[in-house]
Amino acid sequence: MRFVYADNAATTKVSPKVVEAMIPYMTEGYGNPSSLYAFGQKAHRAIENARQQVADVLGCDKGEVYFTSGGSEADNWAIRGAAILGAKKGKKHIITSKIEHHAVLHTLSKLEKEGFTVTYLDVYENGIVKVEDVEKAITDETCLVTVMYANNEIGTIQPIKEIGALCKEKGVLFHTDAVQAVGHVKIDVKAENIDMLSLSGHKFHAVKGTGALYCRKGIRLENLIEGGSQESGRRAGTENVPGIVGLGVAITEMAEHMEENAEKVSALRDRLFEGASKISHSRINGDTEKRLPGNFSMCFEGVEGESLLLYLDMQGVCASSGSACTSGSLDPSHVLLAIGLKHEVAHGSLRLSLGEENTQEDVDHILQVLPGIVERLRNMSPLWEHIMENENKA
Ligand SMILES: *Cc1c(COP(=O)(O)O)cnc(C)c1O
Repeated sequence: MRFVYADNAATTKVSPKVVEAMIPYMTEGYGNPSSLYAFGQKAHRAIENARQQVADVLGCDKGEVYFTSGGSEADNWAIRGAAILGAKKGKKHIITSKIEHHAVLHTLSKLEKEGFTVTYLDVYENGIVKVEDVEKAITDETCLVTVMYANNEIGTIQPIKEIGALCKEKGVLFHTDAVQAVGHVKIDVKAENIDMLSLSGHKFHAVKGTGALYCRKGIRLENLIEGGSQESGRRAGTENVPGIVGLGVAITEMAEHMEENAEKVSALRDRLFEGASKISHSRINGDTEKRLPGNFSMCFEGVEGESLLLYLDMQGVCASSGSACTSGSLDPSHVLLAIGLKHEVAHGSLRLSLGEENTQEDVDHILQVLPGIVERLRNMSPLWEHIMENENKA
């Protein structure tokens, strides 16, 4: 049976070039980067080289890049750090969107318990924040605006540059969770007025447990981990040298091939949309233009998303219905509810996230099995029967 991996928003395959670059630092090059002898300094130089590679892709200074254990850590650090800075000035209001990743939302709900107030911006039916809503929400008390670059479930891309410009004008810090965007769409932190940005290696073909926070020079974020002087003393602990080296190689490789990748992947994605839209009682989630090249998200009425995933799995297809973190819970995705879907519709969601390795044959395999699976599930569904009865009455 054909195996089709279509869950690149959950994680990606490690690139062979990344593996190759990492191996020396797991074998003969095991020195500690903090050691003064040449053997250690070689590892130190490898880290600084990777830091430069990240800075080159983001358009910032190397000294503004801090390596972390991933996207969640970078999100927690940026948001908590900005909150602490704000509280010192008596500013305890934060603005975000309703469709953020749980790494952001759960950090914010903890801050709410600690006395901060949070405004959750609407994203409307297209899944996109309105800049004028950000403007209306900003008060004298606002210390941080955190809006994700691109959404992990519906792939919508936010007006980051415009939000950044507004925050700059108002003197409010602006953080963006760009975990889904880095490596896939062009980002320039300076031109886009971004103060802090989170990224994660395993979403662009580096290994799991690697990531970084870009933090503009001059923002005195609280140290995340106390200890040694690694990461300018702000995030102590002996560095994950192979992981960091791999992240540098991966981000460079993605940047070099960004345009051709986007063109190829979005063509496959559009083929999927075209085919799957022929299924009756279906809808596309999120804006069709302002979205990530590889993101496909649709809802099929009268279908239970989890069952859809199991049947697709039996046909060799790895897919997702919403975010991995919500799978297994009965609540529908907060993202799909935020774009105005009813609970029962949101339950029938399917996310396919394509990557550079996917082929037209992969897409055709999915389109070959999907309509039959939807039909079978509908034939077993009391909800579908109900929908049909209502239609017949009308
Ligand atoms: C995957 C993801 C994260 C978490 O990144 P990890 O490296 O897995 O901690 C955060 N935000 C978004 C939007 C993501 O897709």
